[in-house]
Amino acid sequence: MTGPTDRFPVARPSLTELEERYVVDALRSGWISSQGPYLAEFERRLASRCAAAAAAATSNGTVALHLVLAAAGIGPGDEVVVPALTYVATANAVAYCGARAVCVDVLPQTWCVDPAAVRAAIGPRTRAVVAVDLYGHPADYPALRALCDRHGLLLVADAAESFGATLDGRPVGGLADATTFSFFGNKVITSGEGGGVTTSDPAFADRMRLLRNQGMDPRRRYYFPVLGYNYRMTNLCAALLCAQLDRADEIIARRERVIAGYEEQLADEPELARQPVAPGVRRAPWMAAFLVGAETDPTSRDALARGLDRLGVDSRPFFVPIPDLPAHHDPAANCPVAADLSRRGINLPTYAELAEAEVKTVAERVRTALRAIGRPVGAPYGPAAAAGSRRSRRAR
Ligand SMILES: *Cc1c(COP(=O)(O)O)cnc(C)c1O
Repeated sequence: MTGPTDRFPVARPSLTELEERYVVDALRSGWISSQGPYLAEFERRLASRCAAAAAAATSNGTVALHLVLAAAGIGPGDEVVVPALTYVATANAVAYCGARAVCVDVLPQTWCVDPAAVRAAIGPRTRAVVAVDLYGHPADYPALRALCDRHGLLLVADAAESFGATLDGRPVGGLADATTFSFFGNKVITSGEGGGVTTSDPAFADRMRLLRNQGMDPRRRYYFPVLGYNYRMTNLCAALLCAQLDRADEIIARRERVIAGYEEQLADEPELARQPVAPGVRRAPWMAAFLVGAETDPTSRDALARGLDRLGVDSRPFFVPIPDLPAHHDPAANCPVAADLSRRGINLPTYAELAEAEVKTVAERVRTALRAIGRPVGAPYGPAAAAGSRRSRRAR
């Protein structure tokens, strides 16, 4: 599976004999469904790694968000403040509750929700704030904590992209009332599909466990006192995740080296700006993220992505702002920073097995594609043209 390749995917899971061993163990035990020893083990270890009181495993990160909001009793007529720039799941989970996602702008310094904008959006119907650790960078939890305490709001962290991040030395997962994770195939650690919630409140964890299991009374089988959901994780996924937790520090270190490699290789590239990192933050190495071109440049990012595609490098554009999506359309939302980041942001291949030399190759191709922007199609393009443009760059 591993080894040098000339086409670079944007993401790829890191799977070894250890994952294989645990999954085969779970398989052979017969516990392939949502009961089994790996589940309890995974929840215990996730909570402990996050310095949280409890964790609940779920079938994916989207339902983890819904589970938190449902357990908090958020429903029709309520409003939940979310950043305008995030993956659609953050806003969808609010809509699943019948509540309204109120989108506010993000900060250029962190790409995460602007606490001042959150404060301005709080009204009589506001019940919760869901902050998102975009591209692995934790939101400003101290500021959001103070705000939520003052207004009696639930503070939720969508840490789908930030497993392993810390803020002032404290791990993500213990910085909000509840924190949700995704273990989708492209996330820092993965079980293919999977999710989880950590919380500082054991009673809240019990409420989530009830709703996760169809609302069944834990003391009376087939009696369902509330409307619940089937949001359970399987023991097979938990086995895979136990192996990923064993290897988490190694996976994180390797992914950090990949991102540091790009940032080093591309530091002098005038057309690119790296992801800013706030003081006290150790971001999670989810996906290398850069901005292309000058502020509000509407075309260079897509031109770079097309050039990279031709050179065998997959990339991803940043998310489309939530208020621009049909299901959450809000023409009144005024989020210029989110709009600008969304137009200029690009993610580059980031996975543990990407070797140092391969990072250099990708960075070289980024330079090549950048130099070709604006050149007519069919013009010299490729290693020779790149070498030429490199020479002229050095000559300048
Ligand atoms: C990946 C992701 C999710 C949802 O995860 P799934 O496991 O795919 O449901 C939620 N929020 C953010 C910010 C994400 O990146």
